[in-house]
Amino acid sequence: MIFRQFFDNISSTYTYLISSGKGREALIIDPVLEKIDQYIQLLNQLELKLVKVIDTHIHADHISGLAELRNKTKCITIMGEQAPADVVSMRIKDNDIINIEGIKLTSIYTPGHTDDSYSFLMNERVFTGDTLLIKGTGRTDFQNGNPYEQYNSLFERLLKLPDETFIYPAHDYKGESVSTIGEEKNYNPRLQVSSAQEYANIMNNLKLSNPKLMDIAIPTNKSMGMSINVQKKLNGITYENLINIIEKKECFLIDLREESEILKKPSLNNSINIPYSNLQDYINNNKKSLESKNIIFYCAVGERSALAIQICQSYKLKQINHLIGGINNI
Ligand code: FE
Repeated sequence: MIFRQFFDNISSTYTYLISSGKGREALIIDPVLEKIDQYIQLLNQLELKLVKVIDTHIHADHISGLAELRNKTKCITIMGEQAPADVVSMRIKDNDIINIEGIKLTSIYTPGHTDDSYSFLMNERVFTGDTLLIKGTGRTDFQNGNPYEQYNSLFERLLKLPDETFIYPAHDYKGESVSTIGEEKNYNPRLQVSSAQEYANIMNNLKLSNPKLMDIAIPTNKSMGMSINVQKKLNGITYENLINIIEKKECFLIDLREESEILKKPSLNNSINIPYSNLQDYINNNKKSLESKNIIFYCAVGERSALAIQICQSYKLKQINHLIGGINNI
């Protein structure tokens, strides 16, 4: 297994790259925009294909690398369903499974630092974002933070994991890189409290100054999605167009979402399901028959389907469209 921890010394952010092995699919958690070249270089050296990137929450202290990684690698961008960010192409909720080849991550909704904070459990490792830091916890005084919710996320969720579970946070300011649930239970000063009220008293009296980049980072991180205009230019059609086209000619409708998303919202009638991560393999195996078909892609919000158009263009497929705004917009 490949597991790497990157550090951005300007924002003290940790970023994680995970893959089951050389030449396989990879996933990145909490990428920092300025470090993208470093991640891409390692991905190339290890012959990894980046398929998914996750932000644990909307960051206030750095600009996320989600959009840039999507532009450069056509990967899927993932955040929780509560995240007010338009760059998210696949939204997850509590206890969802995020799959890449040979690796499974389970999402744990852990609000408190922000109301969109998630942690991710991967066997004996947990990525805790800014919910649980090493000998600290993430502040709760902006972005709908709430110390009572954070107390709950810590004591009812994260600290219930086995003591040996390794903690990998999104930040560290003192040079520590990893801890365990057991160590934090015993030695994290913020966790030596006997009630939510006592915890809230600590958090409400931290008197921290705002992160330097906050006024730029939060609005930027909220709006780095692919605009409707860009989606339109990539052979985008509206749902009305789609209905008209289907009535007039035979079409091949492809739902690019994953099984867990289809369970939440069913596919359109008469479509087949090719999860976006498998699209390239599918085209390689079916190129001849696809050339004669009128293909219409759709996904949740129109990002993956727009990227699918770009992928198809590189295969010189011509009769292709995609649904602007995705199935969630219908
Ligand atoms: Fe944060």
